Amino acid sequence: MDPNPPPVRVTLLSMGGTIASVAPAPGAGVMPALEAGDLARAVGELDGVEVSARTVRLMPSASFAFEDVLALAHEVETALAEGAAGVVVTQGTDDLEEMAFALDLLVDDLRPVVVTGAMRAADAPGADGPANLRAAVLVAASPQARGLGALVVMDDEVHAARFVRKTHASRPSAFTSPEAGPLGRLIEAEVRFVTRVAPLSLGARVGAVPPVALVRCALGDDGRLVGVLLDQGYRGLVVEGMGGGHVPAPMVGPLEALAREVPVVLATRTGSGSALRHSYGFSGSEIDLLARGVVSAGALEGLKARLALALALGSSDDRALVEARFAAVVAALG
Ligand code: ASP
Repeated sequence: MDPNPPPVRVTLLSMGGTIASVAPAPGAGVMPALEAGDLARAVGELDGVEVSARTVRLMPSASFAFEDVLALAHEVETALAEGAAGVVVTQGTDDLEEMAFALDLLVDDLRPVVVTGAMRAADAPGADGPANLRAAVLVAASPQARGLGALVVMDDEVHAARFVRKTHASRPSAFTSPEAGPLGRLIEAEVRFVTRVAPLSLGARVGAVPPVALVRCALGDDGRLVGVLLDQGYRGLVVEGMGGGHVPAPMVGPLEALAREVPVVLATRTGSGSALRHSYGFSGSEIDLLARGVVSAGALEGLKARLALALALGSSDDRALVEARFAAVVAALG
């Protein structure tokens, strides 16, 4: 065995967010300000791991557009092409689950891509950023993390991008995988996986991403919002139905009309479980909607179904191909 193996190279790409935020003046609200190099320095030395850091964006994650998503995916691919053993992305936690899932679909590589952030600003007492980033780098450097798709590391837990959600507005333990639990944990700076998932990919290059709406249906909804989407330029819709995927009867007509023009996907608004396919037969039920050309999101929750549909739409103008790519992602989640 080589007594001095070369260091494992991990690339850190920073996008801003709370992990990079400090207050510009005493008492002022925190803002993204720290560069990737500052974040890397806060982690300190890690035995056998060499981190190179690059700032890609310095912004709140709520303002990311699909252009930022595609630019980041390109940066990740570049880092891997340059020989990194793994990549860590730091960003705001507000839509971290969406970015991680987008990278899961866009980056086709067995090497780990790990997304992390912080719930407490860099200048806050008990800031969680350095610990989260250190854990993320250890996961990105770990051969065990290969082939699991994009991962999210927060609060010493490793989550699959496809399952993870931000389920609390402020706690450091805000990220959970309600349906599956974490894939693994960090214990004494060691990465331990308890379960594994197969890699996921859209299997296509993505160009300009058209607008896709996400509508959560609620008691008494009459579907008038659905009726204006096409005129507003939307090219797809994900509707989060009640329970197993049910909408009020007055929404059925507008949904069917929209599904004749653009892909319409049915998810459940419950936050876990799958949209049903063949249980209920009333007007507005999943059987009714699927028979009218609506497509099932299966186990994909609304935010992730919207991403998968938007990226599939960005990959082709051929509706059948778009729906086939979307269905393949749904099928991969079981
Ligand atoms: N609150 C956010 C965060 O945790 C801000 C953002 O998403 O940029 O980073």
